[in-house]
Amino acid sequence: MTTLDLDKYKAILEAKQAELSGSLSNRDEIVIEKAPDALDEVQMAGERELAIRNLDRDSKLMAQIRRALARISDENFGTCLHCEEDISVKRMNAVPWAAYCIKCQEQVDRREIHVEESEDWFAHAA
Ligand SMILES: [Zn+2]
Repeated sequence: MTTLDLDKYKAILEAKQAELSGSLSNRDEIVIEKAPDALDEVQMAGERELAIRNLDRDSKLMAQIRRALARISDENFGTCLHCEEDISVKRMNAVPWAAYCIKCQEQVDRREIHVEESEDWFAHAA
């Protein structure tokens, strides 16, 4: 991988990581509040669910970014984990933490390729 400017991606990934760790450490939204009436309670439950979903999404993204940074150190950044082809620069610019080329990503999304769940995310979730 010589065509990608690794320092540039590293900076982008680290910035995103810092941004996410800020929002992940702010978990106040998930405090369970006792609402005075049923309607508020329903609304709060909805907000809580949304907050948990966001947290879940951010945590997964965080794990993807961590692995992308590890791939930069391992010098296999920008290479599809499945077919080992180079991931297009266009895709790397759009999704700097992409681990698969577009073709393989589509198969991952359709669960035609088995992807190991991010072990590190579960380790950190405890
Ligand atoms: Zn691929």
